[in-house]
Amino acid sequence: MSGKSLPLLAIATRNRGKLREFKRLLGGVPFKLTALDDLGVDFDAEETGDTFELNACSKSRDYAAATGVLTLADDSGLEVDALGGAPGVYSARYAGVHGDDEANNDLLLAKLANTEVGSRSARYRIVIALTDPATMDTVTAEGTCEGEIGFERRGVNGFGYDPLFYVPQHHRTMAELTPEEKDALSHRGIAARKLAEILRQWGN
Ligand code: IMP
Repeated sequence: MSGKSLPLLAIATRNRGKLREFKRLLGGVPFKLTALDDLGVDFDAEETGDTFELNACSKSRDYAAATGVLTLADDSGLEVDALGGAPGVYSARYAGVHGDDEANNDLLLAKLANTEVGSRSARYRIVIALTDPATMDTVTAEGTCEGEIGFERRGVNGFGYDPLFYVPQHHRTMAELTPEEKDALSHRGIAARKLAEILRQWGN
């Protein structure tokens, strides 16, 4: 043991599913990953932008200013082509209550009730932002993951819309994939690997 303690990296989300995935994806970076609750942050940064990038950047800056440590925040969501890109940045609160995955999935199924196989294409999109509190400089990384919306829930893994998000190359929904299979192709996995590269350079 060298005795040298690692610098902190705040993972700025209260979504347990996201936090679990970020901890998995960033496990190898030379920082000590810390949740907002562990840093005593008790407010929720506002998400008022109409793009994933605006929301990710404003959240990471707000939380970096509050915590004083290097901070990572994401904004992500589902875009369904037959719904003109909805729910998009409103994915977490599609049915009205923030984070009510069951209600959001019910509403999505209802909206697509008359949409046939072959017209149910969709994608997950994410922007992750990383802010240095000393300068407030912010870098971003993006990821997308293409799929289709199913007709019924399948699988228990993941979170959010995963039970309805069919991944063609696996012939299964995202919620039927193992965590490792999801990480290999998910929007969050793609973007997190780009940021992990930057974090490795910064940490050394
Ligand atoms: P926000 O980024 O906190 O505004 O919320 C993102 C929302 O998009 C989540 O609450 C989910 O509904 C959805 N979402 C984002 N990424 C995923 C994913 O990997 N699986 C399932 N749903 C996701």
